[in-house]
Amino acid sequence: MRDIFKLSTVFCLATCLSYTVNAQQISDQCGFNHAIEYQNSLNPNYKEQADNIYRNLLQKANSTNSVTSKKTPVTYTIPVVFHVVWNSSTPAQNIPDSVLFEQINVLNEDYSRTNLDTSNLRAEFLPLVGSADIQFQLACVDTNGNFTTGIVRTETSATFGGGFFPDMASIGKIQQASQGGSDPWRPSEYLNIWVGDINGGAASPSLLGVATPPAGLSNWPSGSVPAELQDGAVIQYNAFGRNNPNVFPGGMVVNGRTVTHEVGHYLGVRHCAENTFGGILGSICGDDDGLNDTPNCDQSAQGCDIARNSCTDTIPGIGDLPDMVENYMDYSDQDCQNSFTQGQISIMRAVLDNERAGLLTSSGLICLTAVEENNFENSVSIYPNPSHGVINIESDNTNFKLTVYNNLGQEIVPYFLNKTQIQLPTKGIYFLKFSSENETLVKKVVNQ
Ligand SMILES: [Zn+2]
Repeated sequence: MRDIFKLSTVFCLATCLSYTVNAQQISDQCGFNHAIEYQNSLNPNYKEQADNIYRNLLQKANSTNSVTSKKTPVTYTIPVVFHVVWNSSTPAQNIPDSVLFEQINVLNEDYSRTNLDTSNLRAEFLPLVGSADIQFQLACVDTNGNFTTGIVRTETSATFGGGFFPDMASIGKIQQASQGGSDPWRPSEYLNIWVGDINGGAASPSLLGVATPPAGLSNWPSGSVPAELQDGAVIQYNAFGRNNPNVFPGGMVVNGRTVTHEVGHYLGVRHCAENTFGGILGSICGDDDGLNDTPNCDQSAQGCDIARNSCTDTIPGIGDLPDMVENYMDYSDQDCQNSFTQGQISIMRAVLDNERAGLLTSSGLICLTAVEENNFENSVSIYPNPSHGVINIESDNTNFKLTVYNNLGQEIVPYFLNKTQIQLPTKGIYFLKFSSENETLVKKVVNQ
């Protein structure tokens, strides 16, 4: 709700005191507000600019009747780059491709409302929610124009983050190759997601993820962007994915929603309870995300308490509702979350129309264009995919050239078993490029 909308200026005072009272019970699992405070310490204009952008987004989101305007016209696709930064001492941090692929699946489900657990949403919230019609695709082409899997793996001896209050400067090193991390790909064209240990090797990590809001982009006044700003999301490696062999200590269920939540921040959405922990008095009903259609709550929920109704709402046409623990932007259990509201969707799509519009025309998506824009695809079939190394190729058009690239975009020479069958050298992801005089088709194949 928007009644007494305060941005994160109160955050530090409120939560710092809350920390001292409840240090044993709670910790801040999302570093979004810390990221804003940190960037503001580097550049005093940062928070004001981020907040101004957010206020404009709110105005638009709240001016439409979210209960009746559910249809979004176009599916937006965002190219993703995963930077897996793993410490030599803990090879398990080098999480397998299968976990990265499954994380993309989670994002695609959650941002199209095709996740199976939407059925868990309480009926009173159904008029408020919808599909964002946003999809995610591992980048097919890198910043140098080479084919890619969209996955960068970096072995490091560096450590990142740690401490009860997230050390944002230290976490930021994961985004810099010179500091033992991995440099982002052009942030205006790629959603960069770093995956690593951002809790300094702590046995009981508290910070699950951090993301930056749409700010510091090309529409900002020159000179207002801190050089240290690296746009994207950073995720604790064992709070990532939903088939991750690394179990999060303490038994917390991880099903991919850490990334759903942080990407929400990246696309402009804030916590349902902006004050996060309820401030020094434990309850600030007026200080939340400013949206009309997210039920107000006095602090971010932990657990999955559907009986909780901490604040009285005046949602247009509806009135009061319980706290929406099903919302991805709460702190509730990941298997309790399943929905975005129309207001949140309005913000995210507006950000893609404006501040982050470069993602939608990114060269990182060019393989999709190649597939969609020609008829060559119908004349070539490859199977099985995934395979165990042997790929059958059938085509009506015999006049094509086949080039094979590995996941680094390097051309490799496959072993031709016969005219229609190739053997890929080792396990991994490959791109088969079929070129004829007028057309080009790229197909991704997996040798598992
Ligand atoms: Zn958050």
